[in-house]
Amino acid sequence: MKTTTENGFFGDFGGVFLPPALEKVLADLATEYEKSKTDKDFQKQLKHLYQVYANRPSTLYFAENMTADLKGPKIYLKREDLNHTGAHKINNVIGQGLLAKKMGKTKLIAETGAGQHGVATATIAAYLGMECDIYMGARDIDAQKPNVYRMKILGAKVIPVTQGQGTLKDAVDAALTAFVADYATTHYLLGSAVGPHPYPTMVRDFQKIVGQEIRQQIMKMEGRLPTSIVACVGGGSNAIGAMYDFIPEKNVELVAVEPAGRGLLSGRHGLSLAAGKPTVIHGYKTLTLVDDKGEIKESYSAASGLDYPGVGPELSMLKESGRLTLSEATDAEAVDAFVYLSRIEGIIPALESAHAVAYIKREAKKYKKTDIVVVNLSGRGDKDVEHVYETFIK
Ligand SMILES: *Cc1c(COP(=O)(O)O)cnc(C)c1O
Repeated sequence: MKTTTENGFFGDFGGVFLPPALEKVLADLATEYEKSKTDKDFQKQLKHLYQVYANRPSTLYFAENMTADLKGPKIYLKREDLNHTGAHKINNVIGQGLLAKKMGKTKLIAETGAGQHGVATATIAAYLGMECDIYMGARDIDAQKPNVYRMKILGAKVIPVTQGQGTLKDAVDAALTAFVADYATTHYLLGSAVGPHPYPTMVRDFQKIVGQEIRQQIMKMEGRLPTSIVACVGGGSNAIGAMYDFIPEKNVELVAVEPAGRGLLSGRHGLSLAAGKPTVIHGYKTLTLVDDKGEIKESYSAASGLDYPGVGPELSMLKESGRLTLSEATDAEAVDAFVYLSRIEGIIPALESAHAVAYIKREAKKYKKTDIVVVNLSGRGDKDVEHVYETFIK
């Protein structure tokens, strides 16, 4: 098992598996991205927007009530839910938006499933004065009306995708096609640490601010590093963002919580790291859910942000090298944790983030009282209140 990261590979995962036309476009993007890393002006703007637009640093909140109730470790919540637009996704769109602008692009295109990434992209497009096309499965458009309204209010065009199942995977294909056709003027703003190089590296770099802040904040509050960092995993951007700074700290446990949906045996889940096979999906190689014939399977989670059959290649590498601790939470556990956090701390989390909360609620007893566990609260739950209320409270 290789664990080196070079040429867009993370060990055996990542890379670029695309037709030559797209390969060239992405090579240009990779070059521009490399340049931006040492561009003082770019880095200054990025830092500025993190602060004044996204509202960073986000608080590291000591969850005193939950800590007392669960009788386990000291629990801290990294409050990405308090960012502008209500999740960690804003960190990534600020970075890629600035890069696109610097490259002279005038339009941002993106795919979205539940609409969260579409809203974040439409937001930064509005701020930067760029056009914005959001590709969304026709089925998802019907299911996610409030986010569709938000995108349109922000000035974006929402383009329904009817090919295939009319869901996220088909929206990605449509957005990639549009990107190739129009790449001189457009930037494809990918929403997670997935896809062909340079996206997994670039998105991780724009999200690693989360872990850097956790380190500073916990050192100030506790004078030592945490025992564990816990995050939910869809594509893996909030997880790698919170964890990246701690990868060299061998004493810090990194816990990836995947969506078990209706359970492994039901076949309806999103356990890409736990049950996936090395496969090429959307132009890169990673642990992916496949059937007996090696065809990509549909994933499932009640939290649509976690509903993806692949996963970021860097997390695949960390899993294979044994650095990552895998865990999972079912739909039912996530909903239970959603209501639990709402009632014990007065914080309504996103259903995605509730998977990470479910982990600590279930596993608190395996930790010592002196341990410190940081749970990355990737987003707020406004978008999920109707679903949870109708299904479980009423
Ligand atoms: C999109 C989303 C996720 C899943 O995406 P990752 O790239 O795995 O972080 C998790 N939480 C929230 C709140 C989201 O909006």
